[in-house]
Amino acid sequence: MLGAIAGDIVGSRFEGRDPPKRDFALFHPQCRFTDDSVCTLAVADALMGDRDFAGSLRAFTQLHPDRGYGGMFLAWAFTDDAPAYGSWGNGAPMRVAAVGWLARDEIEARDLAAAQASVTHNHPAAIAGAQAVALAILLARSGVPRAELRQRMITDFGYDLAPERALVGGGFDVSAAGTVPPALTAAFETDSWEAAVRTAVCLGGDTDTLACIAGSVAEAIHGLPADIAAAVPSYLTPDLRDVVTRFTAAVGS
Ligand SMILES: [Mg+2]
Repeated sequence: MLGAIAGDIVGSRFEGRDPPKRDFALFHPQCRFTDDSVCTLAVADALMGDRDFAGSLRAFTQLHPDRGYGGMFLAWAFTDDAPAYGSWGNGAPMRVAAVGWLARDEIEARDLAAAQASVTHNHPAAIAGAQAVALAILLARSGVPRAELRQRMITDFGYDLAPERALVGGGFDVSAAGTVPPALTAAFETDSWEAAVRTAVCLGGDTDTLACIAGSVAEAIHGLPADIAAAVPSYLTPDLRDVVTRFTAAVGS
C-alpha cells in the first residue's frame, strides 16, 4: 500500500501541468500528499478496524480537507447522511490498494473493493476499476506471473492494455475507465516501481492518481525500494503516519 502513497506524493507536483522529462526528481520540496493518500489510508484504517468505509472516509477527509478532492466527494464527505452519488471517477480505484493486501482470496478482494467504492462511486465503471486494481495487487503478491495477470485484467474487465494505446497520455481524464488501463499498463510494461511511476507521471493529466494506482500495482509486482518507502513518512502528518505504521506491521507492505 505504501507504493500507492509514494506514487501520489511523487505525482502530486505535476497534476494538470505539462508532463515532465522522464528523469525528473522523484521527491522534491513541492511534493505533498493529496486526496489519493488520505482516502487510501482511510480505507486501510477501516479494513484494519472493522470500521465502515463511509465513516472512515468522512473522518479522514474532514481532518485533511485541502488535499485536492473532487467537489462532489467533498460535499459528500461533509454531509453525514449523504448517499452515494453515482460517480464513475477514478476515486474508487485510487483508494483501494489496502484491499489487495488484506483480502484473502479473489472473492473477498472483489467484494471489499466494491464495498469501499460503492459508498460514493456506485457507477459500474468505478466499481470495476476498483475491483481490477485490488485483484491485480492480490494476484501479483500471490505470485501470478505478469503476463497471466495482464491477461486476467483484459479478460475480466475488458480493458485495452496495449501500450501503444494505453500509454499515449494527453488530456486530463478523471474517469476510472480512462485511468485504470494506463496505470495498470505502466506497472505491467516496466521492470521496477520507479519505472512504473515515471511512466505514469509522464502521461500527464491526473498525475497523482495515475502514479498512485500504478505505484500500488507496481509495488505488488516489482516491490517497493527501501529508499522510496523510507522517504514517504516525512511527507505525512502524524495521524496518517500512524495508519502506515499499523498497516505495515499487519501486512508487511
Ligand atoms: Mg489527488
